Amino acid sequence: MEYESVIGLEVHAQLLTRSKLFCGCSTAFEADPNDNTCPVCLGMPGVLPVLNRQAVELAIRTGLAVQGTIATTCRFARKNYFYPDLPKGYQISQYEEPIIQGGWLDIEVNGQRKRVRLIRIHLEEDAGKSIHGEHLADPTKSYIDLNRCGIPLLEIVSAPDLRSPEEAKAYLQQLKTLLEYLEVCDGNMEEGSLRCDANVSVRPKGAQRLGTRTEIKNLNSFRFLQRALEYEIERQIEVLRQGGTVVQETRLFDAQRGITLPMRTKEEAHDYRYFPEPDLVPLRVDEAWIARVQASLPELPAARRQRFVTQYGLPAYDAEVLTASRALADYFEATVQRFPQPKVVSNWVMGELLRALHRFQHTPPQAPLTPEYLAELLQLLDSGVISGKIAKAVFDEVYETGRRPREVVEAKGLVQISDAAALEAVIRRVLAENAAQVEAYRGGKKQIFGYLVGQTMKATQGKANPQLVNQLLRRLLEEDGP
Ligand code: ADP
Ligand code: MG
Ligand code: ZN
Repeated sequence: MEYESVIGLEVHAQLLTRSKLFCGCSTAFEADPNDNTCPVCLGMPGVLPVLNRQAVELAIRTGLAVQGTIATTCRFARKNYFYPDLPKGYQISQYEEPIIQGGWLDIEVNGQRKRVRLIRIHLEEDAGKSIHGEHLADPTKSYIDLNRCGIPLLEIVSAPDLRSPEEAKAYLQQLKTLLEYLEVCDGNMEEGSLRCDANVSVRPKGAQRLGTRTEIKNLNSFRFLQRALEYEIERQIEVLRQGGTVVQETRLFDAQRGITLPMRTKEEAHDYRYFPEPDLVPLRVDEAWIARVQASLPELPAARRQRFVTQYGLPAYDAEVLTASRALADYFEATVQRFPQPKVVSNWVMGELLRALHRFQHTPPQAPLTPEYLAELLQLLDSGVISGKIAKAVFDEVYETGRRPREVVEAKGLVQISDAAALEAVIRRVLAENAAQVEAYRGGKKQIFGYLVGQTMKATQGKANPQLVNQLLRRLLEEDGP
């Protein structure tokens, strides 16, 4: 029997507010443990939460960008459970009345477009963090860091519309890009700004009813998401093939071993005893506010992708890669403004720049080779001052040192040799040193021509103008021939 997998994701995105959801504490990541706390987020008795307006605005932005319905009134709810990193004994979340309902996200996998429906998007506060391990002053103890406690999160819940790990990954990528464009979330998965729980089930291909699902908690990279799902789907299919039944449970992904393990079963599942948060009045969002947010929305990824194709004449693939990150798209456009050959710029951004960004773990604005410098480099190349090969070397040098391309070219004497007399002398020397090859060429082994071009480029450290080398070499081989 053939099986198909069904996946729905719950994504937690940390909102880019400066202060927490219900108090004035900073949300800065670099703070020392417990520095960003106050009586409110520590859950002291007698304190009251005050809702952060900016967090609500960011939720509205997101809701509008996914065509969701913004609730004109909604309420917060208490989600009760005991955990050492949760000093209040509950999280303030939303339950029956989320701020956003519905909406969708379009993804593309293998050239196939697909619409993934969203069920809900709601606001909630994060919990703290328990720290254990050898690096601590006393490794036998668990330490608590409550800086995260009360940090605003958006939980974005998809319908079970995804059908493969690839689709799940594409969805998360699309969502990350969108949240970054909206400046709702920085998308930093290593720092935990974007986390994902994956719900997955399998069913016989063609079946209508959904199978029993498991939920894999806290996946913090695209690779882990994909690998965890691949493993879990195989595992569930194997259980069914053996005649067993899948148990509804929460599982954890062990990245080292590449497997998922049960964390808690349905029986052990938390009973959160949700009830309306009595310390907060219902939230009212009026039409005027929604309209203001709508008017402030930036160009969204899909629109920008389309514009890159029409305005710059780029292939769809280039547009997709360049607009995957708002910062990369900005970098591209800033370069094109100074060097208006979009496809050339696109090739360099998708090739050399992405490679360098990856190598140095930089975001585009952190690149020492700025759009201004890339444009300058491309001008040097375009006007024949340097060869393509040298341009790549200059790119690396500029990236590593932050010096201007023009300066690097001059200081290193990399200017292309386009002086025919100078080149001719070099070629004559190369021919003399390769007498055997020259003879073979003249005897009919024409493919040796490429070798001689290579030797000439080598003799000039790549600085020779390639067209000129070709011309001169051909002439010299003919005229001095037998
Ligand atoms: P809960 O309230 O327990 O978190 P929800 O019904 O809100 O459950 O669903 C949570 C997530 O699980 C959603 O993303 C949804 O798409 C997904 N989901 C629900 N049922 C299934 C299923 N049978 N297979 C895969 N995913 C599912
Ligand atoms: Mg859930
Ligand atoms: Zn606080």
